[in-house]
Amino acid sequence: MSDVSAFQPVPDPLTAPFWDGARDGRLILARCPRCLAWQHPPLEMCRACAVRLRPEAAPLWGVVYSGTVMRHPAVPLYATPYTVVIVEVGGAGGPRIVARVADAEGDVAPGTRVDIAMRPLPGGDFMVPVALVGTPETGAPRS
Ligand SMILES: [Zn+2]
Repeated sequence: MSDVSAFQPVPDPLTAPFWDGARDGRLILARCPRCLAWQHPPLEMCRACAVRLRPEAAPLWGVVYSGTVMRHPAVPLYATPYTVVIVEVGGAGGPRIVARVADAEGDVAPGTRVDIAMRPLPGGDFMVPVALVGTPETGAPRS
C-alpha cells in the first residue's frame, strides 16, 4: 500500500468542528440557527438567510441516497473492493455525507436505513464517518 499520509485531512476553522466531533464519536455539521438548514460541507454563512452557521450534532443514522462499489484503489486507504454511499443524514432530504460501508460488501440499495459511526482513517489520528448497514450501534430507532 502506498503512503497514506498524503490522504489526511487538513482542518481549517470551518471544518475543525467536524473533525473534533468525529474524534468524540459525533457527527458535527454546520446548521443555520434561523432556518435550521444543514450545510455540508460547511460554509461560513447560510445560503438562504446569510446568517453565520453554527456547528451542531446531527443524527447518527440516515438513508442511502446512492452508492457504488469501489473496485479500483483510487484512494489507497482501503483494500478493494469496498462500498461507498451517499447518506442523507436523519432521513430522506437530510444533509448528505459520503461514507464507506464498514460492515457489508457489494451494492447497498437506495433507501436502505444505515447507522453512522466513526472509525479511524488509516495513516493518521483522524476519525471518519462510516455507514453500518446491518449492525445498529447507536440504539437509534429503526424506521
Ligand atoms: Zn438559514
